[in-house]
Amino acid sequence: MGWHVVIAGGGFGGLYAARRLERVLPRQSARLTLVTDVNFMLYTPLLPGAAAGTLEPRHVVVPLRDELKTTEIHLGHVTGADPAANELRVRSIDGREETLPYDQLIVALGSVSRVMPIPGLAEHGLGFKTISEAIALRNRALLNLEIAETIDDPDERAPYLTHVFVGAGYAGLEGVAELQDYVADVIERYPRSRLQGTRWILVEALDRVMQEIPPSLAEFATRELRGRGLDIRTGTRVDTVDADSITLSTGERIPCRLVCWTAGVKPAPVVRELGLPLDHAGRIEVDQTMRVDGHQNVWAVGDAAAVPDPATNGDTSCPPTAQHALRQGRLVAENVAAVLGNGQVKPFRYKTLGVFVDMGRHKAVATMLGVKLRGFPAWWAARTYHLLAIPGVGRRLRLIVDWTVGLFFGRASAELGQLGHPPSLKGYLETPQPSGEGEDAA
Ligand SMILES: Cc1cc2nc3c(=O)[nH]c(=O)nc-3n(C[C@H](O)[C@H](O)[C@H](O)COP(=O)(O)OP(=O)(O)OC[C@H]3O[C@@H](n4cnc5c(N)ncnc54)[C@H](O)[C@@H]3O)c2cc1C
Repeated sequence: MGWHVVIAGGGFGGLYAARRLERVLPRQSARLTLVTDVNFMLYTPLLPGAAAGTLEPRHVVVPLRDELKTTEIHLGHVTGADPAANELRVRSIDGREETLPYDQLIVALGSVSRVMPIPGLAEHGLGFKTISEAIALRNRALLNLEIAETIDDPDERAPYLTHVFVGAGYAGLEGVAELQDYVADVIERYPRSRLQGTRWILVEALDRVMQEIPPSLAEFATRELRGRGLDIRTGTRVDTVDADSITLSTGERIPCRLVCWTAGVKPAPVVRELGLPLDHAGRIEVDQTMRVDGHQNVWAVGDAAAVPDPATNGDTSCPPTAQHALRQGRLVAENVAAVLGNGQVKPFRYKTLGVFVDMGRHKAVATMLGVKLRGFPAWWAARTYHLLAIPGVGRRLRLIVDWTVGLFFGRASAELGQLGHPPSLKGYLETPQPSGEGEDAA
């Protein structure tokens, strides 16, 4: 077989690049390998739904082997690269160090939470970027309700009923709204907590929520969430986090047992180990065609790349959104195919068409092609968009079933933190019997 095209990362950028390469590269002309540390793409816009128990966690991920037909999926952790030798370094899931030679490399390694050096934050805060974090958040809220029910003193109970989200972007706003909605749904089953009530606080360092949407929609979202009892503190920072409280820059100490940190992202740490040029934010420097500066056969897309944003004539980089990453993935595939077939590479031209912010309870805010929507129409438009956007007919049907069932029945309050963590068989080990005993039973 001819060329070897390697894609590092199987999220929005990587999956869509692989799908397009399968279509545009003539069969037998190239071998495609996708290296990823998980065998699915997480459809992050639906992550708040998974955290809130509206959607089954398995229904918000796209298994890569279902979507890719001819691409070899190589499960492993990218650990570095040597661009001069055209080699990618990978640690396999069983711990073997491997070297993958490539002719063309597409880096789509995404981002991780940007955790500020705030005392206690890393120890006591929860992130909201991965499926395990979404489930952990829901489990923590449920466990706190369970603990609250066992406490007699209302003052001692209060921290277990207080939830603080830090960062009012997509993840923070949708996360707090959906989790509040979920707790409101299940609290009937927790009599002491229901009588005392829960407390929800959203802390944002900037002067308004959701910088990604126009101020009028951000104001609507703020009004709507304040109407539900959410305490939104803009222009406020976090000073310290403890096991049982958070202290704000205003000096206020809030007793609480759930702190969720959603204040920004940074490129995946391994991006620093690839030997590629980086910008001030640590993203890989690329030109408008997404080719890495100074490297003819290396490309980068998505949250890990600083792709010049056509919306600002390249003055800034594209925002870290799925809608940019997947379109960059498709175009980079065509550019790689063009290079291999002596064709013309094209610049990235996409400008944001719309933004949805789902706030649960059948409400959302949205801008689409310059039209602003809010309330139920925005919520309906958001659901329809995601139904059409998530790959796979079966997956779409499962989402419809989840949402429909949720309309008629309450959500489950089982705390399944033990999923995937079975007890060790050592705990059940029989003590050896003196010979002769127990033989009848066998
Ligand atoms: C809660 C939440 C809600 C969001 N909602 C929206 C929304 O509504 N609309 C929108 O446009 N955007 C949204 N986003 C942003 C969007 O998810 C990202 O911009 C998008 O995922 C970026 O795509 P990517 O391909 O760059 O990275 P990702 O999709 O994160 O993919 C990166 C992949 O690389 C893998 N990887 C990382 N490091 C390694 C390694 N060392 N070795 C092997 N594999 C590795 C990761 O496991 C992952 O599979 C949301 C994000 C969050 C967290």
